[in-house]
Amino acid sequence: MGATLLSVRGITVRFGGIVALDGVSFDVERGQISGLIGPNGAGKTTLFNVVTRLYAPDEGELELDGRSLLQTPPHRIVERGIARTFQNINLFRSMSVLENVLVGAHTRGRSVGAGDALAMLEYVGLADRASMPAAALPYGVQKRVELARALIARPRLLLLDEPAGGLNHEEVEELGDFILGLRRDHDLTVLLVEHHMSLVMRISDHVNVLSFGRRIAGGTPDEVRANPDVIEAYLGGD
Ligand code: ATP
Repeated sequence: MGATLLSVRGITVRFGGIVALDGVSFDVERGQISGLIGPNGAGKTTLFNVVTRLYAPDEGELELDGRSLLQTPPHRIVERGIARTFQNINLFRSMSVLENVLVGAHTRGRSVGAGDALAMLEYVGLADRASMPAAALPYGVQKRVELARALIARPRLLLLDEPAGGLNHEEVEELGDFILGLRRDHDLTVLLVEHHMSLVMRISDHVNVLSFGRRIAGGTPDEVRANPDVIEAYLGGD
């Protein structure tokens, strides 16, 4: 704990005339749950797409464990210890739950078989649905399959893009406890993009706030909640 795992330094991303990220800098400390919030279009998903190397930034530097990420091609990002889930469910609908989890098994120098995938499904409470087609499952359960697929790669840094989207109140509570358990059991660092404020504020150690591509605040949940700039940009409208 304490050392920086991910360092985001002056990241700028432009899409034609749109500046999606404008010189964004922040650190994510090892072992932390780090929330990333901001209004629609603030640049949160774009930041995930930069960290996972889907987009190359126009400016800036990214480091994981003190080593540049920008030299790492997208297909090697998992080997560097980064896994993600997506805002919109991204499962192979006709494949079984187990097969979907195995798709995530491009690991760092260790082979993963069906036994590992089953153990992961057990961990997320889905062992009894391993052979079902993913599309047959309720939405909230499909989101857990996505989590299992990300976790099977044994990441050090897990990027969660709106994991609470579409979940009911009880499922959001369970998700929060699950993420806290992940950090405890798996020594994971989590970067969490989420619009569900009570979830972010409950489980995050640190929260960064983006607005129109700029980082306008960062601090503990209590500090961020009390920040007038944040209230004006975002929480005021919540
Ligand atoms: P939301 O909370 O609605 O998911 P966000 O904070 O994740 O929003 P982004 O999706 O990162 O925001 O979008 C930031 C800005 O960049 C928006 O203005 C968006 O329209 C623009 N943008 C994102 N991706 C692209 C792209 N591939 N091409 C053009 N513009 C893009």
